[in-house]
Amino acid sequence: MRTNPPEQALHYAPGALHIHTHYSDGSGSFPEVIAAARAAGLRWIIVTDHDSLEGRDYAGWHDGVLVIVDHEITPERNHFLALGLSETVAASLPPQEFIDEVYNRGGFGIIAHPDERVANPFKAIYRWDDWQVDGPRMRDGASVGIELWNLMSDWGESLTPRNRFLHFFVPTLGLNGPTPATLDWWDRLNMQGRRTFGVGGVDAHAFKRRVPWGEAEIFPYRWIFGTLTNYLLLNAPLSNDATVATAQVYAALRQGRSYFVNRLDGDAPRITFRATRGSEQHTMGAVVAAGPEPLLLTADVGRNAFVRLIANGELLASGIRHLRQSVTAGAVYRLEAYMGGKPWLFTNPIYVTDAGQ
Ligand SMILES: [Zn+2]
Ligand SMILES: [Zn+2]
Repeated sequence: MRTNPPEQALHYAPGALHIHTHYSDGSGSFPEVIAAARAAGLRWIIVTDHDSLEGRDYAGWHDGVLVIVDHEITPERNHFLALGLSETVAASLPPQEFIDEVYNRGGFGIIAHPDERVANPFKAIYRWDDWQVDGPRMRDGASVGIELWNLMSDWGESLTPRNRFLHFFVPTLGLNGPTPATLDWWDRLNMQGRRTFGVGGVDAHAFKRRVPWGEAEIFPYRWIFGTLTNYLLLNAPLSNDATVATAQVYAALRQGRSYFVNRLDGDAPRITFRATRGSEQHTMGAVVAAGPEPLLLTADVGRNAFVRLIANGELLASGIRHLRQSVTAGAVYRLEAYMGGKPWLFTNPIYVTDAGQ
């Protein structure tokens, strides 16, 4: 069992993932994307152009912003963020095959925008078709990610010819958060011991589109970097060595030592969600054995949000900003928080196992 240091000793590193540049269908150059990330207060970004690693030369530190360059495998549907690879994986492979290939090569990945359901005049459906495919066949404890909330995908799903200008000027009207089916899938995988971490992805493109008043950018990088932000919980500050820092980011993601928040509805730069028992203290991503002594789960999201503690997919307790719940049973415990009734924050779980498991 690993005991995490208390949160006070942890370093919280905000960042964004799922970003496109002009090496695929994004409108921006790397310098533009990096400047926008810096202006948005991000410490790291993961750029994943479609089936291309052409931007690799930009990987590294850029004046306080760690730039990681990997790629998104993009067949017609079934997109996958392939991370930690030196070469691209063929998008012509079926999903199970390309996932296996990513893991065989020592990488890992994130299932992108899994639950798209709507085709409209502005977009096709890019969902993850077969939810039986949820990771490498040789799972062996390997960790896989799910993009629980994809900003562009969510916004695009509710777009209609009638509301498109309203939703362009007031984008939050078009945001609904992770779909119930996605959250349900995620909980079930973790309950089955198929270790799955959740992230929020911006899917930034800064598309330029003709509109009646000229040309509009949907949405600028600087704006979108102020939306879904993933906070990593690190034991040490990000290293000055970009290779080491990239490994720190990827390790934190794989271990589920992160949460994400929609900063449009308020930032949450230093939340706590911990399990304590005597002198033991654990946080997101930890695996803790239940024992005769109960574990105390506590949370503070730093704002007057409505907080829900989810145990094995079911609501166990709720509160405003804070939460305290004593537990003795093994379960997958995670936190969600809502601002003004809207989904706002999602943590990765603390995994409590029953004795003897
Ligand atoms: Zn995609
Ligand atoms: Zn994408």
